[in-house]
Amino acid sequence: MTAENLALSPELLEAVRRISGTEHLLVALDFDGTLSPIVDRAEDARPLPRSAAALAELAELPRTTTALISGRALDSLRLVASPPANTLLIGSHGAEVWLGEGSLGLELDEDQRKKLAAVREVLAEIVNIAPGTVLEDKPAGVVLHTRMADDDVAEDAVEAATRVLSEHPGVYLKTGKRVLETSVVHASKGEAVEFLRQATGATAILFAGDDVTDEDALGRLMGDDVGIKVGLDFTQAQYRVEAPVHVAELLEALLRERRRVTSPA
Ligand SMILES: [Mg+2]
Repeated sequence: MTAENLALSPELLEAVRRISGTEHLLVALDFDGTLSPIVDRAEDARPLPRSAAALAELAELPRTTTALISGRALDSLRLVASPPANTLLIGSHGAEVWLGEGSLGLELDEDQRKKLAAVREVLAEIVNIAPGTVLEDKPAGVVLHTRMADDDVAEDAVEAATRVLSEHPGVYLKTGKRVLETSVVHASKGEAVEFLRQATGATAILFAGDDVTDEDALGRLMGDDVGIKVGLDFTQAQYRVEAPVHVAELLEALLRERRRVTSPA
């Protein structure tokens, strides 16, 4: 073992070697807290350069598909992630899908648009009385961010929003780190992983993510798949790394192995 991969457990390195031998590999990654460190202002997030470089090279390998599965709206994801051109993109926790040129954008129906407006009204009232909380509009939902608010204010705001919006049928709620996500489209990262497995014909998936919503994806993994939790929170993942910097090491290890398998010398 070399110094640079000390942070990865021998079990994880073995899993990386094993999955690299699969026929068609799908590398599906969360963005914030996984490729990028968590930052105060969402627009400031950028992938760690080493992760971005490894992902770009993985994207070029034969029989290898790369994908980002994010809670962000697709536009926001593109802006901060600058993904390799052939990387598949799933935004809004699965509500938005981009599989290359010609992919159709998300269209809400009349009922969903009305629900979205009602959700926005509820959350705007809460933000008005909860200093430090802010809203973010997404194509299928509105997000309540509480990262900049005091702990008790943040807690009260999320509690109030959850209480009121639980009464709205067809509005789906997800709690993340200092964030309450609402959506008028039912979607999850678990469904996104399933969808990508079908769409790409992947024979194994390597997925890494740091947040609660990533557990949906981790829960859909099976067989030869490899699931990695980033961070120390509870998880059902088989493997764990501590921080985005270790994701960089993981992707570099995966790149070395996968390149060896797909491009024989
Ligand atoms: Mg994340």
